[in-house]
Amino acid sequence: MLIGVPKEIKNHEYRVGLTPSGVKELTHHGHQVWIQKNAGAAIGFPDESYIAAGALMIDTPAEIFAKADMIIKVKEPQPGECAMLRPGQILYTYLHLAPDPDQTKALVASGCIAIAYETVTDDRGGLPLLAPMSEVAGRMSIQAAARALEKAAGGSGVLLGGVPGVAPGKVTVIGGGVVGINAARMALGLGADVTILDRSLPRLKEVDNDFAGRIKTLYSTRDAIESELKLADAVIGAVLIPGAAAPKLVTREMLKWMKPGSVLVDVAIDQGGCFETSHATTHQDPTYVIEGITHYCVANMPGGVARTSTQALTNATLGQAVALADKGWKRALREDRHLQNGLNVCEGKITYEAVARDLGYEY
Ligand code: NAD
Repeated sequence: MLIGVPKEIKNHEYRVGLTPSGVKELTHHGHQVWIQKNAGAAIGFPDESYIAAGALMIDTPAEIFAKADMIIKVKEPQPGECAMLRPGQILYTYLHLAPDPDQTKALVASGCIAIAYETVTDDRGGLPLLAPMSEVAGRMSIQAAARALEKAAGGSGVLLGGVPGVAPGKVTVIGGGVVGINAARMALGLGADVTILDRSLPRLKEVDNDFAGRIKTLYSTRDAIESELKLADAVIGAVLIPGAAAPKLVTREMLKWMKPGSVLVDVAIDQGGCFETSHATTHQDPTYVIEGITHYCVANMPGGVARTSTQALTNATLGQAVALADKGWKRALREDRHLQNGLNVCEGKITYEAVARDLGYEY
């Protein structure tokens, strides 16, 4: 199969659909891989590294879209890219179609076979192609909080790890899923005093077992959140109710109880945010202050560490990319119900129920 990887074109998107190591795996399976020139140059994957892995470097996305049997990307195709997709061509990337009627319409019109990373499942009910980006965002959230707590950044001047003789900072993580666990792990590694709140008791039990009690757990109620806010130096918002907007768990009024210069990191901002005062920010201008509390609400946190994120993404997507290339999409999907769950658009039809329902398509 001929696999094509165009350079990402969204603003400040430096990730790329395949690492050189991913290319090597595919070429080892007898496939041809075309990468757009400079696709990975900004994150330490120069063209030579792709050539060494067996790829052919191509000048323009138009050549790639015109010939490739499968396009592997990171972000959803932009209008110009949608226009280049062909009937029968496989598109393997993040799509997030439900809130995006224009892209959905364009993909339906293209006749392509669009497989969305974010709806591929696993045996444990997880979303394994989404998880790596949650891991990255969770871990980054503590770096962001630590930086924002520094005096020069307008913070309270607390060092999360403390020092001998001085108590560590207190980190409260609301939501103990993939983001929350990874945030807690980083905070614990720095030596902070860490508490996780969740609505799921089985989740809290797992956290308690996994960390042998070194992370405190609290059942998430309004009362528990209120008490934590008064003590915390950093609060990480990491809740998710699948398919729904994030619940607003901290109101503007509640910020007044927090210590001045403390930090809120709203990782759930891509679902609308779980703090009333959150609004999406960018890596260029990541924070703002309300009621003396610094807010960090970057909507695409993994893009800030594009090299690590690209490697983590290829690790997660490669196995099924190889299956698609080896077997063709029909057999690959027939033999793997989890990959089948990734199929959102197929030859002019919406094949994912929630997208069809939300956007008024036949299913
Ligand atoms: P997840 O499903 O693994 O975990 C969510 C957790 O929230 C679950 O354990 C759930 O029980 C808990 N929860 C739900 N309601 C709660 C409440 N009221 N109080 C406490 N806990 C509650 O999800 P995840 O992968 O950890 O993702 C969390 C959020 O982070 C999502 O909105 C996701 O889209 C977002 N995210 C953002 C970025 C970014 O760049 N900003 C990157 C990755 C993920």
